[in-house]
Amino acid sequence: MNLPVTGSTAEELLAEVARLKEHDLPVRGGQVTAYVYDTGRPEVHEAATRAYVEMLEVNSLDPTAFPSVVEMERQVVGAVADLLGGGHGIFTSGGTESIMLAVKAARDLAGRERPEMVVPVTAHPAFHKAAHYLGVSVRPVPVDLDTYRARAADVEAAITADAVLVVASAPSYPQGVIDPVGEIAAVAAAAGVPCHVDACVGGWLLPWLREAGAGVPPFDLSVPGVTSLSCDLHKFGYAPKGASVVLFADPAMRRGAYFASAAWPGYTVINATVQSSRSAGPLAGAWATLRALGREGYLELGRATLEAATALREGIARVPGLRVLGEPESSLVSFAAADDGEVDVFVLADEARARGWFLQPQLSYAGIPANLHVTVTGVTRAGVDAMLKVIAESAEAARLRGPVALPEGLVELVAGLDLEALDDPTFAELAASVGVDLRPGRGQPEMAVVNAVLDGLPAAQREAVLVRFLSVLYG
Ligand SMILES: *Cc1c(COP(=O)(O)O)cnc(C)c1O
Repeated sequence: MNLPVTGSTAEELLAEVARLKEHDLPVRGGQVTAYVYDTGRPEVHEAATRAYVEMLEVNSLDPTAFPSVVEMERQVVGAVADLLGGGHGIFTSGGTESIMLAVKAARDLAGRERPEMVVPVTAHPAFHKAAHYLGVSVRPVPVDLDTYRARAADVEAAITADAVLVVASAPSYPQGVIDPVGEIAAVAAAAGVPCHVDACVGGWLLPWLREAGAGVPPFDLSVPGVTSLSCDLHKFGYAPKGASVVLFADPAMRRGAYFASAAWPGYTVINATVQSSRSAGPLAGAWATLRALGREGYLELGRATLEAATALREGIARVPGLRVLGEPESSLVSFAAADDGEVDVFVLADEARARGWFLQPQLSYAGIPANLHVTVTGVTRAGVDAMLKVIAESAEAARLRGPVALPEGLVELVAGLDLEALDDPTFAELAASVGVDLRPGRGQPEMAVVNAVLDGLPAAQREAVLVRFLSVLYG
């Protein structure tokens, strides 16, 4: 865009926004089974939007200038602590930031020269990101390939004298299963190491599922040995994006997450989060969503979610050629090709996408096969039969089409590429040669080929290709 010389009206701009959004996936209605969380209650999202806009221009940078921020944050963090075993919290922009702060606090508290953390392979990449940003190394722990849960004995064996943090997920995102938090926290405590529970996706979901009758083991700050916990409100809290809470059992550890600087001649800086200046809109959006739904609202959504997740798991198990991975306690469901291997799940995802449904591809990793992921939310119940129908039809179509046939030697070619030596236009040409047109406005490419290529690469090479992809996409 060239910055226009003259300004535009709001009407003109909103028409333009509508045009820009034309090819976006819908954020409401439940046909997109990742990224977005819809209550199915427009009035709740409306309340959040209005509160968000009301606080949009307030800056959370200085709580003495805007005391509304302090009061709202105390209420939101208090609600999360009430539900999840107490503690002292910080409102953050998302799960990644919550995890970043938990890792920083653990690192600073321990003061090791070469800090490392013990992380099951199913834990979210936010831990790798935090490790990368904060100079902590990751000691990965395999998971049980029948249940997809980490085992406490493996975690224990990975704890060294340099360990500053042990991680468990409730649940881990890929298969929606809960790590044995009690056992893992116990081995961490016995070694004198803090234990973070990543309840980013499950924190504001599992308690309602439990109340609705699901078997949910203890996972929160009330479990002995758990020292911090992350819980995203912009997932099953149904708040607008930019809303998460990190809780610390010990206020001294929360102080370890803070950052202060007086090392300049300007205003004094004291931040609880990574961001400094930031809008209070997301906080107000989360606050309003919690209040608009209340306990009853969340419990009702929890019941609907549990019913839908059960129906989905049972329904997928009946589709020829597919199998559900593990026995998730949450409402996150993943499924892979059955042992006959006749259905290519990446082709299935393209077929579903052509029918208007987004199912999230997950690449094979650490012994876990390639699969598709569905996040079941409160709104899914109304659409679960339609979703199952699309999955069955898409599976049948994928069986007929057969697995992606990659040109011979393509994976080896990509694996052997010296990406550093390629410029972005050459990379774009290469992508076009496998049917992926990265030029603007070309819409959604068939992703099965891309996913099959990525799936054939080791993780480091996948990462290099993904970085390139983003760089070309943004031009
Ligand atoms: C979503 C998620 C995160 C990261 O959250 P963002 O809000 O996307 O930064 C971390 N852990 C788990 C288990 C998640 O599902």
